[in-house]
Amino acid sequence: MHIETNASLKAYNTFGLNAKCKYLIKIHSTDSLQELIQSKLYKENPHLILGGGSNVLFTKDFNGIVIINELSGIEKTSENDETVNINAAAGENWHQFVLHCIENNWAGIENLSLIPGTVGAAPMQNIGAYGVEVKDVITKVNAINLETGEMEQFSNDECRFGYRTSIFKTSHKNKYFITSVDFTLSKKPHFNTSYGAIRQKLDEMGVKELSLKAVSDAVIAIRTEKLPNPEEIGNAGSFFKNPTVSQETFARLKKNFPDIPNYPQPDNKVKLAAGWLIEQCGWKGKTFDGYGVHKNQALVLVNYSLENGQPIYDLSEKIIESVQNKFGITLEREVNVY
Ligand SMILES: Cc1cc2nc3c(=O)[nH]c(=O)nc-3n(C[C@H](O)[C@H](O)[C@H](O)COP(=O)(O)OP(=O)(O)OC[C@H]3O[C@@H](n4cnc5c(N)ncnc54)[C@H](O)[C@@H]3O)c2cc1C
Repeated sequence: MHIETNASLKAYNTFGLNAKCKYLIKIHSTDSLQELIQSKLYKENPHLILGGGSNVLFTKDFNGIVIINELSGIEKTSENDETVNINAAAGENWHQFVLHCIENNWAGIENLSLIPGTVGAAPMQNIGAYGVEVKDVITKVNAINLETGEMEQFSNDECRFGYRTSIFKTSHKNKYFITSVDFTLSKKPHFNTSYGAIRQKLDEMGVKELSLKAVSDAVIAIRTEKLPNPEEIGNAGSFFKNPTVSQETFARLKKNFPDIPNYPQPDNKVKLAAGWLIEQCGWKGKTFDGYGVHKNQALVLVNYSLENGQPIYDLSEKIIESVQNKFGITLEREVNVY
């Protein structure tokens, strides 16, 4: 097992922050992970698991072991006329996995095209976009308990998926290393184009007959127009979650802000657009010394040249405070802060 000491994490987080860690270890097999967690080094140091580093903000150096997940492999485990079961190793790149499924005509995750990161981090916050959440197609999450070294399996229910959350982001955070995920995908696609922007893009593209590839291409085109590419401007996508409020709170807000975008939820709550709330507080496009709020999407905080993420964290505090003062709503961060 190769151990790099005093390593820079700059290449391992999409904010491009130059945090350092005491030890950096890349894991290519579950055996080497087992070896690591039984080692003295592991027992004496805190650890942090990283996939693509596209949902983390480093505000300081990490004084311990950063484990980079590079487990690979995609396998069809079973199929019938309607569905196919796939096991994908956690270190596989998410978007490449989506493309692989599309090529094989396996439907269900095409709307989740171009989300950065790894397969293993997808269940962590139940990634979602354009009307689809990954929980809709996950049957099982396989993970090593980092205290016992035992492999455990979590059914979809046991993962306690919610909006941008799961057991792995809450009570089990940093206690399990997700090694692979089992998906059930459909051989007979039910296209989800309920998001207006997808339909519009498909029309613009002149698509007459829907296909998985066409939906994926439309999603890729929309995302490329809307979101900054981390290779050009450091960012971690949406920095905050969209808040959900009660009908009562919504009625109060609607009275004062008649244009407030709102999305009624099945549980009778109302989801609000965090980006709109932030924009109303005047943050959109604000630039400071090396960092700021993206000019097209107020939900995305960006890093132009910082080496340390603390100012971005401080900016997020100010945004939370101003949204609280104007709307009486507390925004929650989606990004994992270290
Ligand atoms: C431009 C951009 C657009 C984005 N768009 C979306 C979007 O549309 N929808 C969405 O949901 N997200 C989006 N994201 C956020 C991000 O891509 C996802 O959260 C993604 O799943 C993170 O994967 P990762 O491998 O980079 O995770 P990392 O950032 O490496 O890790 C995230 C968290 O998961 C933990 N973790 C990672 N791997 C494992 C593992 N194997 N076992 C246990 N814990 C683990 C880490 O410790 C950390 O706490 C976007 C990000 C960017 C930069």
